[in-house]
Amino acid sequence: MISKIPVGILGATGTVGQRFIQLLHEHPWFEITWLAASDRSAGKLYPEAAKWNLATAIPANIAAMKVSAAAPDGTTPKLVFAALDATAAQQIEPAFAEAGHAVVSNSSAFRMAEDVPLIIPEVNGDHVPLIKTQKWYKKNGGFMVTNPNCSAIGLVLALAPLHRRFGIDKIFVATMQAISGAGYPGVPSMDILGNVIPYIAKEEDKMEAETRKLLGSLVESALNGSRVVDADLTLSAHCNRVAVEDGHTESVSLKLRKPATAQEIIEAWDEFRCLPQKLKLPTAPEQPIIYESAPDRPQPRLDRDRGRGMSAVCGRLRPCNIFDWKFTVLSHNTIRGAAGAALLNGELLKAQGYIS
Ligand code: NAP
Repeated sequence: MISKIPVGILGATGTVGQRFIQLLHEHPWFEITWLAASDRSAGKLYPEAAKWNLATAIPANIAAMKVSAAAPDGTTPKLVFAALDATAAQQIEPAFAEAGHAVVSNSSAFRMAEDVPLIIPEVNGDHVPLIKTQKWYKKNGGFMVTNPNCSAIGLVLALAPLHRRFGIDKIFVATMQAISGAGYPGVPSMDILGNVIPYIAKEEDKMEAETRKLLGSLVESALNGSRVVDADLTLSAHCNRVAVEDGHTESVSLKLRKPATAQEIIEAWDEFRCLPQKLKLPTAPEQPIIYESAPDRPQPRLDRDRGRGMSAVCGRLRPCNIFDWKFTVLSHNTIRGAAGAALLNGELLKAQGYIS
């Protein structure tokens, strides 16, 4: 029998923490041995601490586990998936890296730090070696890796093959983001039912900055060491919260650097296969980008679970009167946009020998 790698979950009781538990159940490489959340939850059995909101049952082994305090202790495994509130993550995540843990984080707290890789394995898996510039890694092998904001992930998956083949100059994107993106209990029902909220705090800035870092290049120089140089493109994001449970939908217009036909764009999406697919990482979808030709797709209810929630679904490609092309992209915000994204990062780290 092959023994699995023990993993911990920080923020295990929240929306993303629950997805981690669901996705890690019977995972071929990883096994949850440690769960942690706030002081409110610490010391309780998991089902007493978490308001479980998923359609599958809490796995029996998890239901029997006690929630720990969010601090490294003698039982915390090397690999810790983190789904903490960003303010809490600011203090807590570095403490784990300092103690020698590999922190694979969902929060925005360190995504834009110069020495922290912000990774979508299909897009910029080659940025992972930035880990080696972290002070923790040099000291005791601890490090931190992040995945992007849930709305940046779907957008960047759709952009990456086009950026590689044709170059992207300008992007305009308007999002329709699900309520689960705000965590639990999230947006009050009195605010969101029958309504659209045209504001999500800090979301537009995150989308704009993270997209440039994700599509950027890792460069090495004798003077500055490794660093990411942002992609040279301009992006304007409009972020809206809508009364959808799961799945972020985005309307995108873009200006390319080289002309491309609709067929060439769809081919670039269809043929997009990268490191996670080559390495056959367990959470990698066979097809990272699916193009749906029906005129009324993608839709969150019908398409968010494609590729087990890990594929971005594009549709409605058509000419744009202001830029070159416009289309719609949809991705599952708590799977591809959060827990599934971090899990894929963890699998990539293992495949590349950063976790044994
Ligand atoms: P959530 O439902 O509010 O859960 C937050 C978690 O953090 C809970 O487990 C909570 O524990 C824990 N926590 C809060 N304050 C803490 C503290 N001071 N010390 C220790 N633990 C603390 O939020 P979420 O939606 O799961 O999001 C988690 C992170 O992922 C956030 O940074 C969010 O921005 C990011 N993210 C979310 C999504 C999404 O679609 N939801 C997508 C991408 C990224 P208690 O239950 O004990 O309070």
